[in-house]
Amino acid sequence: MIKNKLLCAALSFLLAAGSLAACGQKDTAPAADSVSALTDSSSSDSGSSVSIVTTIFPQYDWVREIVKDSPQDIEPVLLLRDGVDLHSYQPTAEDIMKIATCDIFIYVGGESDSWVEDALTEAADSDMTVVNLLDVLGNSAKEEVIGFGTETEDAEGSAEEGDHEDEGESEYDEHIWLSLRNAEVCCDAIEKAIEEKDPENAGVYSVNLASYREKLSALDAKFTEAVAKGSTDTLLFGDRFPFLYMAEDYGLNYYAAFSGCSAETEASFETIVYLAGKVNELGLKSICTLENSDQKIAQTIRDNTETKDQEIYAFDSLQSIKAADIENGATYISLMENNLDVLKKALA
Ligand SMILES: [Zn+2]
Repeated sequence: MIKNKLLCAALSFLLAAGSLAACGQKDTAPAADSVSALTDSSSSDSGSSVSIVTTIFPQYDWVREIVKDSPQDIEPVLLLRDGVDLHSYQPTAEDIMKIATCDIFIYVGGESDSWVEDALTEAADSDMTVVNLLDVLGNSAKEEVIGFGTETEDAEGSAEEGDHEDEGESEYDEHIWLSLRNAEVCCDAIEKAIEEKDPENAGVYSVNLASYREKLSALDAKFTEAVAKGSTDTLLFGDRFPFLYMAEDYGLNYYAAFSGCSAETEASFETIVYLAGKVNELGLKSICTLENSDQKIAQTIRDNTETKDQEIYAFDSLQSIKAADIENGATYISLMENNLDVLKKALA
C-alpha cells in the first residue's frame, strides 16, 4: 500500500498544473477532475440544493461554515460518524451510494482513503466535483517522517522531501487538517467548488469564506504567540505523531514513539530509552499523547527519566469525532482551541 501511495503522490505532482486528478482516477475523465476543471456546472438543476459528502469532521465543519445562511439550505453529509477512525474506516454500501449521487465529494486523499478510488467508479454523475485535499495542498503536502524514536536527531530536517534514504518507503502525511494554514487553503478550494455548483449564491459563500479565514488566521496567530512564549520548542510524544503539519507551521522540534498514525502499538525498549534520554537532555517538563491514549508508553518513558515528574498532556487529532461532541457544538475551531490550550501547557 505504501508503493501505491507513492505512485499516487508522483502522479499528483505530474498532474499538478491544471488537472489535479484524484489518485488513480485519471481515466474516468470529468468525474475525478479537479475543482478548477469543473466550471461547467450544467448539472446544478436550478432550485435544487447542492449535495456535499465529506469524509472526516474538519472538512464537514469547513463546509458548514462556508454554506452558512445559504438560501440553498445545504447540509453536508459526514461519512465518518461517531468516533469512526480515519485509519480503519471502510464505507458501507449506503456510504458508496451517498458518494455516487452527490454533487461535491471532499476527502483527504491519503493512504487511509485508498477505498475512494473504487467508490468513485460507482459515481454515475459525471458532473460530480471531487476535491482531493492533498492535491489541493500540492507542494505543501509533507512526507511522513520515518524512523521516529530512534536516531532522528534533526527531526525537522528529516521531514523534507528527498531526505529519506529509502524513497520507496516515503508517503504523504495525511493529517493535513492539523495545520490551520492548510485549513485556509482547503477552505478556499471547497468554497470554489461550492460556488461553481451554485453560482447564484457565490456572494454568500465568498463572504463566509473571508470571515472564516479571518478566524483561522487569528487562531494561527495565537499558536504562533504560544510557541514564542513557551519555555521549550520541543514536543515529545509517547505515542503516534499525526501533528507533523502543526509542528512544522510553528517551527517546533518533535520526537515521537511512532511516525504518523502508524498501526504499531508497542514501543521497543530502545525507543523508550531514546525518548527518555531526550526528555532528560532537553529538560522537558511534559510528555504528549493523543486523545484516547491509555498513556502506557508515555508513563513508561516518564518512569525511565531522571526526574520522573513530567506531566502527560493529550492533543486531539480530530480524526475520530464522537457524534455527541458534534451535537454539543464542537467545531474545528473549538477543537483546535483546545489543542492550543494543550500546546501552551506542553511548552510551558
Ligand atoms: Zn491519524
